[in-house]
Amino acid sequence: MTAQIIDGTAIAQKVRDEVKAKVAARIAAGKSQPGLATVLVGDRVDSAAYVGMKQKACAELGMTSYHHPVPADISQEDLEKLIKELNADPKVNGILVQLPLPSHLDEERVLQLISIEKDVDGFSPINLGRLAQKGREPLFVPCTPFGCIYLLKEAGVTIKGANAVVLGRSNIVGMPAALLLVKEDATVTVVHSRTKDIPGVLRQADIVIAAIGRAEMVRGDWLKPGAAVIDVGINGIPMLNPDGTPVISQKTGKPRQKLVGDVNYEEAKEVAGFITPVPGGVGPMTIAMLMNNTLRAAEIQQP
Ligand code: NAP
Repeated sequence: MTAQIIDGTAIAQKVRDEVKAKVAARIAAGKSQPGLATVLVGDRVDSAAYVGMKQKACAELGMTSYHHPVPADISQEDLEKLIKELNADPKVNGILVQLPLPSHLDEERVLQLISIEKDVDGFSPINLGRLAQKGREPLFVPCTPFGCIYLLKEAGVTIKGANAVVLGRSNIVGMPAALLLVKEDATVTVVHSRTKDIPGVLRQADIVIAAIGRAEMVRGDWLKPGAAVIDVGINGIPMLNPDGTPVISQKTGKPRQKLVGDVNYEEAKEVAGFITPVPGGVGPMTIAMLMNNTLRAAEIQQP
């Protein structure tokens, strides 16, 4: 069997077009332009690139972004002061603190401080707690897991009653993805680094969400034929020539890297019923869902 490829780039574009149209209608009706504050602590290249993509998306969708780059050695007190100022600023509808933070900072305290109405990343303990409670709804669902569920629904995968396995139990992807699947009436198993017989657990799964950060770990023969596979992983591995030697960049003189997921795509697509590619699967959905959440924040604060 050859899997149906779930095109995250196209689905994310659809979400972005919808958000853009709603933002334009909101402004035409005389309401405020949604605003997202981005806080970047230090100069990590990957974090700066992610924040840059989020600012660009805001501009494309007609929202304002307010960027707050702060030094890596900022004190806990000064970072908390900045968050309090952003909480009080009516132009700022959403606050995004790019993670990870340098180790001297208390991430939990920072996330807890973000006003629940501006927590567009959905990482505050209140939003995550509500996600875990029956009959309660968070104001915002974390963007990457939200994107995973959206992709499954767009592809027409039946979640209700399905056996779902989530690989990984991080606060930002694995656990919220598992909680969302439970809310959608799936029967969920969460796999982590202490799980025994991961291939055996996976072979029972109708739906697999892989978020472990291990390049191509999930092999094709670990999957149940016809399973829906959502690959969240983003891992850089060396690009190789046909003779197995590394490809060297002419520009930098360094070995070139390519991005792969946590699933061995070439093997898995021969077994799965549905699969997301890397890149072009979950990645674009994360930013689209952040834009969706920022618009929602503006609608909640200034209906
Ligand atoms: P993380 O915080 O490092 O968590 C990794 C999880 O995987 C942990 O729960 C860990 O188990 C488990 N794990 C690690 N190695 C394992 C193994 N060999 N067998 C079984 N479980 C294992 O990672 P994360 O932040 O959730 O990110 C996961 C991946 O998603 C990364 O590749 C990241 O780059 C990617 N990501 C992509 C997006 C996107 O927009 N597409 C967004 C966020 C993250 P323990 O809990 O037992 O340690």
